[in-house]
Parts: sequence; structure tokens; C-alpha cells
Amino acid sequence: MNTETLLALDSAHIWHPYSSTADPAPVYPVARAEGVRIHLKTGQTLIDGMSSWWAAVHGYNHPRLNAAATRQLEKMSHVMFGGFTHDAAGELTELLLNILPEGLDTVFYADSGSVAVEVAMKMAVQYQHALNRKGQHKFAAIRAGYHGDTWHAMSVCDPVTGMHGLFSGSLPVQFFLPQPSVKFGEAWREEAAAPLADLLEKHAHEIAALILEPVVQGAGGMYFYSPEYLKTARELCDRHGVLLVFDEIATGFGRTGKLFACEHAHVVPDIMCLGKALTGGYLTLSAAVTHKHIADTISGGAAGCFMHGPTFMANPLACAVAAESVRLLLDSGWQENVARIEQQLSDGLAPAAAISAVKEVRTLGAIGVVEMREPVNLRRLQPKFVKRGIWLRPFGKLVYTMPPFIMQDYDLETLSDGLIGALAEEYGA
Ligand SMILES: *Cc1c(COP(=O)(O)O)cnc(C)c1O
Repeated sequence: MNTETLLALDSAHIWHPYSSTADPAPVYPVARAEGVRIHLKTGQTLIDGMSSWWAAVHGYNHPRLNAAATRQLEKMSHVMFGGFTHDAAGELTELLLNILPEGLDTVFYADSGSVAVEVAMKMAVQYQHALNRKGQHKFAAIRAGYHGDTWHAMSVCDPVTGMHGLFSGSLPVQFFLPQPSVKFGEAWREEAAAPLADLLEKHAHEIAALILEPVVQGAGGMYFYSPEYLKTARELCDRHGVLLVFDEIATGFGRTGKLFACEHAHVVPDIMCLGKALTGGYLTLSAAVTHKHIADTISGGAAGCFMHGPTFMANPLACAVAAESVRLLLDSGWQENVARIEQQLSDGLAPAAAISAVKEVRTLGAIGVVEMREPVNLRRLQPKFVKRGIWLRPFGKLVYTMPPFIMQDYDLETLSDGLIGALAEEYGA
């Protein structure tokens, strides 16, 4: 399609994430992508600092992932999962069982991250119901969290940035805890868990589960907190009969320097949500993983089963690519790559601290964050990144990058320099 035709059609008829149709923000037409580079139809090439929202950890157009997709396509793209099973689901499950924290052995596949969160929340409610704790159907969550955009996932997102006020009356009201006050790398102070201890003391009889993003809060705050919080959360949840759900949709598969962020604390949740990098960014697939005893308890309840079953559950094409993506990750020396990117980003982004509009610069694993004092103007800032040949999409006060793990040092340098250069141009040094 002619580029102008595409852009005109798009701005007249296509809705983009969090976008206004009345005043659409500019979009850039992509022709193809390869490795860490996104090639625009205009001929320009951008270094991808976003991994397409945490997903494309191996970069784009990877020969091994392409081959896995092609092999599976020749067998079948999809077949219903009600009453059938297939090698793609079997192989992916076997691989996940090998790498998931001990005890997480029962996998429910779903379509997207938000749906995995819905599934985890339904599991928690059905679990409590099966144990005859019928009052325990609300959720506790942490402020500045992000868990997706579907109804109940949204209810546990930060109430302010999630615009709960807009949906009040129809959105379930949950319990919100302050962000853990001890940052990653700081010495633990037990008082950081006091709000959680208080909440459970008073309201555990109403709460099915505590849901949180372990160690790294993603889109809601790009905040890194002490893994010790997870240990205390585990103890408190056990004491009060509340399930603990870890949303590892952004953090899973190596992003924070561990395969799963909960490994920073050696804490195993009751339910873990996976998504995003699960398929290396190729196809939409997610999972809610739990323990057999929890699954059996749910199955022993009034319904006699777990009440969920999406049409495209365990889609074979997505499972086949996901299985190859996990193999590729394990073969790829991801740990060295993530450590190298962490070092590069922490050196490369440090000079941003000299810009007066910058509040804080932080890095963890293959994640680099420049937090501004005020929300950025995306429409003004994004063209400044593009002009420098890099792709970033800031959100609110957060200018951040989570590059594909394969990004080489010279591209990381262009990315950090471009990020700082654009901020300096926007705000002055
Ligand atoms: C992106 C994300 C989700 C939602 O996933 P979708 O695939 O966009 O529905 C949920 N939780 C976390 C932590 C995420 O980063």
C-alpha cells in the first residue's frame, strides 16, 4: 500500500493504543523489522528500545522462530483445545516446567496478558469458594501497579493512572497498598511491609488474593523495590489464607537478570502470570501457572472444574513459537547479555541526571529508566527520538527502555545517547 494512503486510512479509521480519534497522534508506518532494527516505509531505520513492549527479547525476524512457525503452520495453525491436545502445547509445557520455580506445575494457557490476569483472579476466587471461604472474593494490589486493560485486571491497576474514577460504579473496588518503600538494593526495613500486615489483619476475610508485580513495577511506575517485600508477603498471605499472585508478564524470561523476578527473593507464588516475551514477541499467548493442589482444590469445588476456556486456548502456532523462544533463550547466553545491557545502560544513561528536568535515573537488568519531574509531551518528544534513529515510547513521567537482549554495545550507545540528546533538546541541559 502506498504510504500516504496507509497513513490517511489509518488516521481516519483505525484506533491505536490509548489514542484519540478526534485528534490522532502521528504513527510511523513500519515496512519490516530485523534484529534490533525497525525499518519504516519512509526508508528510515530505528533501533528498537522497547522490544515491542517487553516482548521481542530475541529481536525481530529471527531465523529459528521463523522456522518454528513455518514447521507448525505446515501441520496446523490452530485446533480447539477442548478435548484435544498437541505436541506444541506438550513441548512448551515441558520446557516451562523445567524453568519455572519449584512447585508451579499446572499450566492454563490464555490469549493475552490481561486474560492471564483475569484467569489468575478467577482461580483465586474459585479456590476460596471451594474452601467455603465465600467472603474472600476481593483483591489486594499495590499502587502504581499495572496488570492489563480488561475489567478485573484494570481493577487492580493503579486507581489514578487506571482512571478508576471514570468507571466507578461498575468497576469492583479493591484494596490498595502503598508502593513498597524500600527500593531495590536498599537494606530491608520491616516497616515497609506494615501496611500489608495491617490490611490482612483487618480484611483478610474479604480477600481472595494479593496480586503484584514482583520486584519491578512495569508500565505503572517503572519502580524497582526490595525482593524482601516478597518474602514478607509470602509469610503474611500464608498466615491469613490469602493467595499470592505474581504477575510476571513483563518481568518473566530474564528481563530483570533472573529468569523470573521472584527468584531475586526465592519466593514461589501460588499463581504466576506469564505473557509478553513468552513467544519472543511473535504471537499473542499467555499463561496462568499454579500448583496442582490449588488446581485440584478448585476442581473439587461446586463447579467441578475451572470455569474458563478461550477459543484460541493453547493455540498451536503460538505454543510452537513459544517453545522455540524458550529454547533459544536458554541457548543464547541471556544472563551475560542482560548483565552486559545493565552495565551499558547504567553507564550510558547516567549523564541524564545532569538535566534539571530529570528526577532520577535507574537501571535493573535490561531495563533503563529516566524519571522526569513532570509528564513528558509525547508528541513533541517522540519525533526527537525518531530523528536520532531510535524508538522509545515514554509514558507519563517515565522515559524508559527495555531493549532486545541481542542488542550490541554500539547500538546501546546510540540508544542511550539518543535518549539523552532528545531530552537535552527538549528541556535544555
Ligand atoms: C502488559 C502487561 C499486562 C497485560 O498484558 P496484555 O498482553 O497487554 O493484555 C499485564 N501485566 C503486566 C505486568 C504487563 O506488563
